[in-house]
Amino acid sequence: MAKANKKNNDENQERLISLFWKLNAAAFGGVLPLIKLSFNGRLKSSGGVYKRKKFIKNGETTDLQRSIEISKAYFTHSADPWKDIEDTLGHELVHYWLDHLGKPYGHTPEFKQKLKAHGFSRYSRLPVRTTKRVRTTKRVRTTKRKQRRRTKSRGIPQAEALLRLWRQWLT
Ligand SMILES: [Zn+2]
Repeated sequence: MAKANKKNNDENQERLISLFWKLNAAAFGGVLPLIKLSFNGRLKSSGGVYKRKKFIKNGETTDLQRSIEISKAYFTHSADPWKDIEDTLGHELVHYWLDHLGKPYGHTPEFKQKLKAHGFSRYSRLPVRTTKRVRTTKRVRTTKRKQRRRTKSRGIPQAEALLRLWRQWLT
């Protein structure tokens, strides 16, 4: 059973990366470097999220890590999971694309224009009933983040001062 799940996970991961290249070529002229793409079982209210982590040392950016997470709930709540996953990935890639170009990457007029041009959805494709557990999910997420912070600052002195996380929780 565990083996079967792992096989599924690997296949889903590969398929997500294929989708990235497909959309990158179709909607973004192939300019986007591959970033970390994953499924997240804790995303209930959002279909996906574009994240960026900025590492700053002595006032200078030393690293910028970008990633996209897609909700696992599509596999249980969508009639056509991969169609919805493609739509959500397209949405998150518009955030990434604007960020990649050094532009504001929120839901700006340019964002909406690009979204519309390629027919990606503005809102999550997940049905409303999956959003009921939002509060629990957020609390769990915050607790885990606090635990991670505690672990980090205990392990590496001044880690808190050197590391700044910039996260965007966007649908
Ligand atoms: Zn968005």
